[in-house]
Amino acid sequence: MRAEGIETVRRILCVFPRYTSSFGTFEYAYPLTDGVQAFMPPQGLLLIAAYLPEHWPVRFIDENIRPASREDFEWAEAVFVSGMHIQRQQMNDICRRAHAFDLAVAIGGPSVSACPEYYPSFDYLHVGELGDATNELLARLARDPSRPEQQVVLRTDDRIAMTDFPIPAYELAEVRKYFLGSIQYSSGCPYQCEFCDIPGLYGRNPRLKSPQQIIAELDKLLECGVTGSVYFVDDNFIGNRKAALDLLPHLVEWQKKTGYVMRLACEATLNIAKRPEILEKMRDAFFVTIFCGIETPDPDALKAMQKDHNMMVPILEGIHTINSYGIEVVSGIIMGLDTDKPETGEALIAFVDETKIPLLTINLLQALPQTPLWDRLKREGRLIHDEGRDSNVDFRLPYEQVISSWRKCMEIAYQPERLYARYQYQCDYTYANRIKVPVTPEQKSWANIKRALIMLRNIFWKVGVLGDYRKVFWKFALGRLRHGDIEGLIASTMIGHHLIMFARDASEGQQNASNYSIRLREASVPAE
Ligand code: SF4
Repeated sequence: MRAEGIETVRRILCVFPRYTSSFGTFEYAYPLTDGVQAFMPPQGLLLIAAYLPEHWPVRFIDENIRPASREDFEWAEAVFVSGMHIQRQQMNDICRRAHAFDLAVAIGGPSVSACPEYYPSFDYLHVGELGDATNELLARLARDPSRPEQQVVLRTDDRIAMTDFPIPAYELAEVRKYFLGSIQYSSGCPYQCEFCDIPGLYGRNPRLKSPQQIIAELDKLLECGVTGSVYFVDDNFIGNRKAALDLLPHLVEWQKKTGYVMRLACEATLNIAKRPEILEKMRDAFFVTIFCGIETPDPDALKAMQKDHNMMVPILEGIHTINSYGIEVVSGIIMGLDTDKPETGEALIAFVDETKIPLLTINLLQALPQTPLWDRLKREGRLIHDEGRDSNVDFRLPYEQVISSWRKCMEIAYQPERLYARYQYQCDYTYANRIKVPVTPEQKSWANIKRALIMLRNIFWKVGVLGDYRKVFWKFALGRLRHGDIEGLIASTMIGHHLIMFARDASEGQQNASNYSIRLREASVPAE
């Protein structure tokens, strides 16, 4: 559905803020691709764009691809911004630039919903999800698009059911310039991990779209030119297991119909390993990756952070079970926990080697507002507000010790030999379990072959010739070439290159130790 009952016309400029280089956004891989410039199309802003009254012209700019220009601001009558905490400085910067054109600026999304006080300069704060606050915002802009005299805060009390959500306006995004496609089926998570703000922001009872909506979205993504990998951004794909089971047969059918044109990925809790009926169908739907927040191999730490559900199966067994369905596990790991000891770093490296997981995001603990962790640390007087630090947590261990342990872990875990050994394991024991998908006309098309050739040329030149770990690369690459696995070679090498380069920066202190740290974040994007 769209907003209705509005007669005036307003031109809306939707601007998505830039990310700073981060472990999970794969910037170092982009130069190896055929022109990728950004990570994933942002769901929230494209959803709002699709919800606007049909007769309102809308422009979407992702500043990861290009900055909003003078011409964009001069065209617009109001500006919408959305993003996460890590984009806070960039969002405030967009507001500053829009105000230079005397435009009203509204902000929505997860960051402002959790922390409205981070955004004092915006004219409208949209707190919460799509709902009555959205309608009120549009009605106010329809009446008068000029800047209000003081900030207006609009809170959603009555949310629009996800079954009534319009298909995000993917057509406004330059989808081919993204590393991954994105899609959302559900929102919310039934668990309450101490550090996580998802249950507080989106609730514990997952809300859902219908399978038919998801199929329509996939059709639209395909129509817009998305092939390759598509990521379900749901907080927990099995937050409602029955819903996941309802959706999966539709995905299987769609994949069969389109010739398995997309490789699917999602986030889910590790206890998915106890659900063979779900994993079986995910394999058939060509899910190739699941991000699991393993967080730590230490059972005491899992208990302390209320993540006991990670212990429903022994962790290594759970990972191997998921791998046996052809699905690679990507994992989140947290350091700086209260239960960490001086030897935690070494134990973590041993764990990384044992799991054979290539991609683990190793982050320092950060307390997010509106989480039980934040409340506890506040009570204990252990929240530190210092932007020069990599975390706002007063760790039990000395800060310098935690940072140096994190740097050491990054350095060792992403040594090229170690990383490629883990990829080799995945080739032998995980990817081999995937269904054999037919070669589609799309894959055989000249456009697709040209894309692959460009990527291979970039990889062979930049990694195989110029790269300082070329020996390790060629050992892996020749094995893949012998198996005719060009797709696997491209995917592993691109991601592997990012991990190696990012980890090197990190171990030298050139990258933040937490996704949420603002220590090294750039503030300003030029207006033109
Ligand atoms: S399972 Fe994941 S999404 Fe759910 S509360 Fe825990 S960390 Fe958050």
